[in-house]
Amino acid sequence: MLKKTFKNKSESLSVLGLGCMRLPVLKGEDAAIDYDKAQEIVDFALANGINYLDTAHGYHSGESQKFLGKALVKYPRDAYYLATKMPMWDVNTQEDLEKIFKLQLEYLNTDYFDFYLLHSLDKGNFEKSVDFGAYEFISKMKAQGKIKYIGFSFHDTPDVLEQIVEKYDWDFAQLQINYVDWKNQDAKRQYEILEEHDIPCIIMEPVRGGALASPGKKARELLKKAKPGKSMASWAIRYAASLPNVITVLSGMSNMEQLKDNIETCTDFEPLSQAEFTLLEKAAREFNRKDMIPCTACRYCMDCSFGVDIPGVFKLYNSYVESKNKEEFLAAYKQTHTDSGAENCTKCEQCTPRCPQVIDIPGELEKIKNLVTKM
Ligand code: SF4
Ligand code: SF4
Repeated sequence: MLKKTFKNKSESLSVLGLGCMRLPVLKGEDAAIDYDKAQEIVDFALANGINYLDTAHGYHSGESQKFLGKALVKYPRDAYYLATKMPMWDVNTQEDLEKIFKLQLEYLNTDYFDFYLLHSLDKGNFEKSVDFGAYEFISKMKAQGKIKYIGFSFHDTPDVLEQIVEKYDWDFAQLQINYVDWKNQDAKRQYEILEEHDIPCIIMEPVRGGALASPGKKARELLKKAKPGKSMASWAIRYAASLPNVITVLSGMSNMEQLKDNIETCTDFEPLSQAEFTLLEKAAREFNRKDMIPCTACRYCMDCSFGVDIPGVFKLYNSYVESKNKEEFLAAYKQTHTDSGAENCTKCEQCTPRCPQVIDIPGELEKIKNLVTKM
């Protein structure tokens, strides 16, 4: 496994990090982590050189940290780097910062976090973090030895990122970068801003919530022709890990097949050549021709008070865009979304501000509702 040195060169991070937001679950329920299968993933990851584990207070409806705390008990604390995040949307008083942080230490069964982030900063969450003194709080935790490195994850425009990096000193930052969002979400400019401020970058969503594992027929043909034996996800991981200011690339792996494929990509790692960067630009153009909803299944929009399974509905719709198979789509939709389909949306708009991909959720659901009605 390729390792990258971090900042003062005393830390050596695996270029592939295990994101713990898409662990295997029972009966399709996000909160019901399948402990046996998830433990197998953690064990295999650590045995094969992955040493960065990333979780957050909200992942798996609050269960990811609890699982990880139990899964890591058998390992010495210095065998891995542990990262978790402060959910600014759950902070309504200054005391909440301390309360949540204390719970996180307890759930994760540890005295300290190696990497600690203010979670999903956008303009609103950043302003809230300033109002509540969140940076000052995590700096205090760092001074007390409860955090080694402080950072933030980010979803907004480059000008907001400029404000954040100029206001405080950060040890690292986490960005959504992949070969499609490099242009679509101005990830290129965001990456440059971190470079200009000498802030090491951690990447999230390198495979865009799994979408780049099935990037469409034309993109697939291009990439298969160049490397017939390699998976679509391997291209996405190599793209992210080839950027020089990147220290680790997080992937939320849900099964052993994905984990083994990503480990293979990052062992004897082959950086992208200039010709391959150009090829991925072409693949991104082909990907963008499809009418897919850019949902990464992060679930920040959930729960919907009216029962809509927002990421589930979008996932089914995206498979339909890919396959164009109406019968298959309708059958799956009726089977899995009797009470949680697009038609339950009341357009209350509660979910919309929580979506880091800025998807017009009620608008997209309306489109899907109309499609289902016409079929
Ligand atoms: S807009 Fe629709 S999907 Fe979003 S929270 Fe309201 S009812 Fe649920
Ligand atoms: S709709 Fe947005 S917030 Fe909801 S799961 Fe998809 S990307 Fe995440």
